Amino acid sequence: MDDAQPIRSPDVRVMNEKLILRLIRQNQGLSQSEAAQITGLKPPSVFRIFTVLEERKLIMPVPTQAPKGVKKGRRPVTFVVNPDAYYVVGIDFWSKHISIVIVDFSGRTLCRDVVAVDKAEAEAVVSQIVQLIRSRLKATRTPQKRVLGIGIGCPGMIDFDEGTIRHYPRISGMVNFPIRNKIAEAFRTDVYIHNTSSVVALSEYSYGFAKEYDSLLVILVRSGVGGAFISDGKLFVNHNKTALEIGHMSVNIEGRKCKCGARGCIEAYLSEDALLSDVEKADGIRSIEDLEAAVINGNTEVISELRKTAEVLALGIRNLIQLFSPKAFLIVSRSKKVFELLADQAAEILQKDSYVSERESIIILAEEYRAEIAGKGASDLVIDAFFGEGSR
Ligand SMILES: [Zn+2]
Repeated sequence: MDDAQPIRSPDVRVMNEKLILRLIRQNQGLSQSEAAQITGLKPPSVFRIFTVLEERKLIMPVPTQAPKGVKKGRRPVTFVVNPDAYYVVGIDFWSKHISIVIVDFSGRTLCRDVVAVDKAEAEAVVSQIVQLIRSRLKATRTPQKRVLGIGIGCPGMIDFDEGTIRHYPRISGMVNFPIRNKIAEAFRTDVYIHNTSSVVALSEYSYGFAKEYDSLLVILVRSGVGGAFISDGKLFVNHNKTALEIGHMSVNIEGRKCKCGARGCIEAYLSEDALLSDVEKADGIRSIEDLEAAVINGNTEVISELRKTAEVLALGIRNLIQLFSPKAFLIVSRSKKVFELLADQAAEILQKDSYVSERESIIILAEEYRAEIAGKGASDLVIDAFFGEGSR
């Protein structure tokens, strides 16, 4: 610790308590001697902290086996977090669906659910979210006073310091919309918001199959196309406090007109609506599910149409490689099969591009959007804030 800023001892005490609590939670069990070893704190301090945490019912001892051959003497006692100490709610929403998870303090999921949005209007969506949280807290018998906080993955452009959605055109009225305060007022608890792409990216990084990559660029495809870049577990945040608006990266100045007013944005080719309008002529394709079935059945008309989309995707990824050079890309969408095909075709195109392929390994993965992954990512916003810098 440097000596620039003297820290008052109560702050140090709280910081050390949270440090130990976080270690116990992360390790899913820890003894006092292990805690002393990891933290370098003196055993009497560790003993005091464990006593305080146990008195506050934040941790509890679990029985452990004595080492073989040892009949007498003190057994090391392992402590785990009390799962009922706190509960956390995670929400992720967009114009069509709302996902919810409730997790206990140990990280166990008590409930996960996805519901359709009744009406794509700002106030209506907020009251639907409030109702959904109330009903699931009730169904899981989660006492509201034990809710540590609510984390929300929001669509569109977010100002997460202000707690507002700056702009999300697919839900009417979502302009400079103070979503954090609206939800916080309803539950009188702390609410944390972030861009949904970031929430999904953090969660895929922590719990998903992409966790082996220490730098990962996640592309989230729904009615829009968003992005988030994670390097060494940290989320890249740009100057104006939003996630990466990669959907509006243009790959063709004479390309399709985009909703943002520009031409050739990748969103104008890769969003769900764009994909569906491209394959509209192919028999009976009206939904992502239909499109997925056509890909699985090897519908040649559809597959050759998607080849053009893959060329756009390849150009977009080429630009992102120049900027971020991630170890891997992960495309999260409602159809893993469709985007696996697009990812494979884009990777094939880029392999032939020696300027890129000689310098970079090209790994493009596809994963299905899962409500639980998104919801857990949102709930982690609360946990990160709880264990983060300083104390609350
Ligand atoms: Zn655009």
